[in-house]
Amino acid sequence: MITGTTQLLGVIGYPIAHSLSPVMHNAAIAELGVDFVYLPFAIVPEHLKQAIQGFEAIGLRGFSVTIPHKQAIMPLLSEVSPVAQAIGAVNTVWRTEQGWFGTNTDVEGFLAPLRRMQRDWSQSTAVILGNGGAARAVVAGCADLGCRQIQVVGRNSEKLQGFLQSWQTSPIADLLSVHAWEGLPKLLPEASLLVNTTPIGMHPQDQATPLTASEIQALAAGTIAYDLIYTPRPTLFLQQAQQQGAVALDGLEMLVQQGAAALQLWLQQPAPVDVMRQSLWNYLDRKF
Ligand code: NAP
Repeated sequence: MITGTTQLLGVIGYPIAHSLSPVMHNAAIAELGVDFVYLPFAIVPEHLKQAIQGFEAIGLRGFSVTIPHKQAIMPLLSEVSPVAQAIGAVNTVWRTEQGWFGTNTDVEGFLAPLRRMQRDWSQSTAVILGNGGAARAVVAGCADLGCRQIQVVGRNSEKLQGFLQSWQTSPIADLLSVHAWEGLPKLLPEASLLVNTTPIGMHPQDQATPLTASEIQALAAGTIAYDLIYTPRPTLFLQQAQQQGAVALDGLEMLVQQGAAALQLWLQQPAPVDVMRQSLWNYLDRKF
């Protein structure tokens, strides 16, 4: 029940109507019985600074950050964690006595299902499709796992070079290489982990897939095919990879785990991950 003592959490983005975060966070809040509510805030980019000042004024406890604010919010915060600085993006903010503190829980979310596999990653090559915001968290995650090589594939050579350049002061630069899409036939047979960070195949483009039929056939059996997309589940890419003998992971668990990590930071208590996951399953089953 929302009362006079209820504290505010939320998510900022533009647009925000598609966000699944209110579903899973309010399910978690209900499960924990804490006096909070989690709200969506549609903030246009030119109002970001005012919105943060407004949040300060109304005493909002913390919030999630999604597109297009993940980079733009960084200079507006008092402190940014080393992981968020390395990725160059913030997805979770909370209020401290010193001001707003930002971090990024996407790496933790991305890694959660991979860590459960308890593999030795030291000889692994990760191939990452796309070089946008999510790819940055995936690169940091693959380095954290201990992958031997991280190969990022993109369609725009200027953006790819910029992506490579942005890691030059990090130890990750030693593991990282960038490649044109045409290089995939050579890269795919060596991939132990193949991650789709492009939106190709996302609802309503359910019949689209980032790889051609012959590229998919180049995958070795046992390769982990990981799609960050969570609608549809599974994507056509994951279905095809599975037919090829790959192990498929969709993006829902990443979404749940990055949210659980954020909730834990705001409430300073363990998040009910199972309830959060179930709330999204129920919601998506009804919607799609
Ligand atoms: P983004 O910053 O816009 O990056 C998208 C990347 O995909 C860019 O490199 C873009 O290339 C590339 N791309 C787009 N369309 C393409 C096409 N037709 N062919 C080749 N490359 C294409 O977006 P993002 O924030 O990284 O998000 C990417 C995806 O990850 C989305 O589907 C999002 O829903 C998902 N995601 C999931 C989670 C989760 O928790 N599961 C978290 C974050 C993101 P250009 O740079 O050349 O345009």
